[in-house]
Amino acid sequence: MKPSFTRPFQAAESDVPHARDTSTFLKARLAFAEFARTSDGKLHLLVYGKVITRHVDPIEKKPVVHYMPGSKIFSIATTGCNWLCHYCQNFDISQRRKVEGSDHSPEDIAGMAVSHGCQGLAYTYNQPTIFVEFARDVGLEAHRRGLVNIFVSNGYGTPEAVSVMGGFLDCITIDFKGNGETEFLRKYVGIPDAGAIFQTIQETRDKTKIQSK
Ligand code: SF4
Repeated sequence: MKPSFTRPFQAAESDVPHARDTSTFLKARLAFAEFARTSDGKLHLLVYGKVITRHVDPIEKKPVVHYMPGSKIFSIATTGCNWLCHYCQNFDISQRRKVEGSDHSPEDIAGMAVSHGCQGLAYTYNQPTIFVEFARDVGLEAHRRGLVNIFVSNGYGTPEAVSVMGGFLDCITIDFKGNGETEFLRKYVGIPDAGAIFQTIQETRDKTKIQSK
């Protein structure tokens, strides 16, 4: 069953009266419609359990270099992203306008990580907060099996998302793109500014025990 998805989407809800390229924000709203949909007054996560890719990676590739060095990490992603980066190296996943992927339960994913001899899971290749409910369910199952959970994130979350992350996440690396420069973010990423990223970093530091990189 797909869970309700109540986290607000900041790019879609932002009031950007001085946006230099408003069409970019419109595209962001359309992109969002591909992985979550409103029904009965709630947002529903369409990519729950839809795993588009999975790989075994060294933890250093995430890149996480001061947390469990030498570990093997089972990496997963869904389709979709809340950003529209022109330079995205995973654009075929992040910008895919379809819900696609193999169906897997949280137990399947945690079991695969164990069977590959991994010490943890990474939620990566696209922005993991867009599928945070699925990541949470996988992550709790991973904890039951003694594995750790890592987010590779753009940091564009909300306090609600950070609160959910605090319940299962052990480590996060936030890629701060373009030094947070507003013109860069509007032109190449499709968000109004870096305010939400700073807020996520601060909330993660102050309100959770997640290791931040
Ligand atoms: S946030 Fe990351 S995954 Fe999403 S479009 Fe940008 S580079 Fe790609």
